[in-house]
Amino acid sequence: MLEGKVAVVTGASRGIGKTIALELAGRGAKIVVNYNGSRDKALAVKEEIEKIGGSAEIYQCNVSEYDKCEEFIKAIISSFGRIDILVNNAGITRDGLLMKMSEEDFDKVIDTNLKGAFNTIRFASRQMIKQRYGRIINMSSVVGISGNAGQVNYAASKAGVIGLTKATAKELASRGVTVNAIAPGFIETEMTDVLSEDVKESIIKQIPLERFGKTIDIAKTVAFLASEDANYITGQVIQVDGGMAI
Ligand code: NAP
Repeated sequence: MLEGKVAVVTGASRGIGKTIALELAGRGAKIVVNYNGSRDKALAVKEEIEKIGGSAEIYQCNVSEYDKCEEFIKAIISSFGRIDILVNNAGITRDGLLMKMSEEDFDKVIDTNLKGAFNTIRFASRQMIKQRYGRIINMSSVVGISGNAGQVNYAASKAGVIGLTKATAKELASRGVTVNAIAPGFIETEMTDVLSEDVKESIIKQIPLERFGKTIDIAKTVAFLASEDANYITGQVIQVDGGMAI
């Protein structure tokens, strides 16, 4: 159980992040629901958490902005006094073939998915070191392991998250902080809703378990990594992908 723990979930207004926030709240953690643009959706997540007897606050912060992340993390520490669990889930796609990809689309994806995780870790880890306790969980992707045509920006960002996770795990292990990554396969969310039925069918053919995953599949893995059961696990990438990257 996670009673008394403070958990920050970035990009928790919808999709995987929303389910993670609800799952951790259900296990007793106080939740910081971070969002970028979807204030109403973030408020709805807070209300859903309160309905199940949990506690949550919403915070707007664009994780790609270094200075804003410093303010964001400082604000959390001043209201909650600690940060036990940091889930770097915020992420975007801007797909396109390499030959047509704009510099802006490359930079935007790297800035959100990779630098965003660096930004929050940079400031939250100082507090975790002081506490001599912390659990950092970063969202990578099957695409960061295998690559995917049309996603050089996204694949690079998610492979970068794996390197960031492993290096941070080595730096923070002696301070009681574990750092792990999850590499989801294709999960049913707004991010994958945009794919055509033909593309979805061809992806399912590559998944040994023959279906897309659900957000709860990822949330349960986050809850495990955040729990005492995972005390001796650090620097790992857990693939939750129906066997896609075997
Ligand atoms: P989603 O439904 O598109 O939701 C994305 C979330 O990230 C939203 O809450 C959004 O907030 C937030 N966000 C985006 N840019 C942000 C920024 N600059 N600052 C703060 N928050 C920001 O995505 P999802 O499918 O749940 O994916 C969640 C994570 O899992 C991502 O890192 C994604 O790459 C990864 N992943 C997803 C899949 C999949 O199949 N769905 C597979 C592998 C990995 P707003 O609503 O406020 O914009």
